[in-house]
Amino acid sequence: MLTAWNFYRLVAAMNTMRKTKIVCTIGPRTESYEMLKVLAVKGMNIARLNMSHGDYGWHGQVIHHLKRLNRKENGGVAILLDTKGPEIRTGDVNPDIPLKNGDTLTFTIRRKAILEEYCVEVSYDGFIDDVSVGDIILVDGGMIRLRVLTKTACDILCRSLDDGLLGSRRHLNIRGKSADLPSITEKDWADINFGIEQGVDFIALSFVKTAAAIEELQRYLRGKNAKIDVIAKIESAEAIPHLAEIIAVADGVMIARGDLGAELPFEEVPHLQEEIAGKCRQAGKPVIVATHMLESMIINPTPTRAEVTDITQAVLQGVDCTMLSGETATGKHPIKALEVMDTVARRTEQRLEIDPKVRVEASSNAKHEIARSAAILGNNLKAKAILVFTRRGLMAVLVSGCRPNEPIYAFTNSSYVRRRLAIYWGVQSFIVKFSKDPETTISRAIKLLNQKNIVCAGDRIIVVSDILAGETFVETVQVRIIKS
Ligand code: PEP
Repeated sequence: MLTAWNFYRLVAAMNTMRKTKIVCTIGPRTESYEMLKVLAVKGMNIARLNMSHGDYGWHGQVIHHLKRLNRKENGGVAILLDTKGPEIRTGDVNPDIPLKNGDTLTFTIRRKAILEEYCVEVSYDGFIDDVSVGDIILVDGGMIRLRVLTKTACDILCRSLDDGLLGSRRHLNIRGKSADLPSITEKDWADINFGIEQGVDFIALSFVKTAAAIEELQRYLRGKNAKIDVIAKIESAEAIPHLAEIIAVADGVMIARGDLGAELPFEEVPHLQEEIAGKCRQAGKPVIVATHMLESMIINPTPTRAEVTDITQAVLQGVDCTMLSGETATGKHPIKALEVMDTVARRTEQRLEIDPKVRVEASSNAKHEIARSAAILGNNLKAKAILVFTRRGLMAVLVSGCRPNEPIYAFTNSSYVRRRLAIYWGVQSFIVKFSKDPETTISRAIKLLNQKNIVCAGDRIIVVSDILAGETFVETVQVRIIKS
């Protein structure tokens, strides 16, 4: 219940760190240095480049701006390159075809033929083999549905189940089926090489079906000495039976609800979201909830109440990130959309704080238990913050996995690790010079937080750090009171 006491805690929390991270897709509305800076100031943690759009010149320019922004503003915005993947699209249609419920239409793989009326080319020859009579073909995730009536060696005759305008290069799915296309296409490999050259932080692999594609990309990146984490986009029907193995090998997961709700009945999406988010939490893998979170804000300046509820649900599920797509790429109100997502997440996190839970099972892994102890101490002692000193990011990731109430401030000496931590729930990271004596490093970190008014004298903090014991380093969890 929202008592007066809780209300004041809520107001106070609106000024504290947001724990759920926000991914913003960059597009024509947000491509400039100035707009990227406003997004960063307003809370963008990760900038997403969608390789389904734009050329290398455009993407290179955005990456250049983001790197300059990080340098100039001492920021830690990470860059996620999202591959196009093996999509199936309609060919060019001129003019668009006005379909009515009951109309028939032919999809064909005939190439360079002069096509009759109501006949549309499909970009992928295997479509003929993948489709069966009775299947439902979805245009743009379900804007128009067509039932397959008959098929020949080159043509698929369908009946439209909806009214709608069928245009050029529209996205096609077969309900309940994944196309038999290679998981990583030639274009994807070229885009991956571009991402390696440009030094992006994450690559999201589209239409992942099994763990094999993720492992193939990870091997490739290792071979190129590229420190890039691989995010598995769960959006194909075929991925669902392989969820556990995909999550086990991926560095993170994106629940790509647009295509997922086209390949599978849309009523499955909320349940799959819950299942995937839960499995990722258990496995300690970061998870992004994507698509249509504030879709109406592409046009309107305020969200629908259903959209607000959708963000709230994702935050209550403890996901690491929520994502904006068209809202920030092409929408009329990109900054307002980010502000709405930020406000709703902060408000929801307050509910989590009123009912704190450290959500991790005990284990026999020492690092894991150190992280869990830090989270328990933080909650029980009502500490102001948990400070984690980490070279590779691992300890910060483990503390984040416990979902403590307190903000986690990670101190690292690597800007790559700093950006990599951008995806993890509740972690804000800083660069600090690591001294030979850990105590000196801890003092530097506290001074930095002090200067930023994050902590002050008298605050109780939890510190996860090595200490020097004689000649050797020992991992510790410490409870400290900040001195004046
Ligand atoms: C999706 O389908 O929800 C998604 C995120 O993928 P994309 O935007 O690349 O189509």
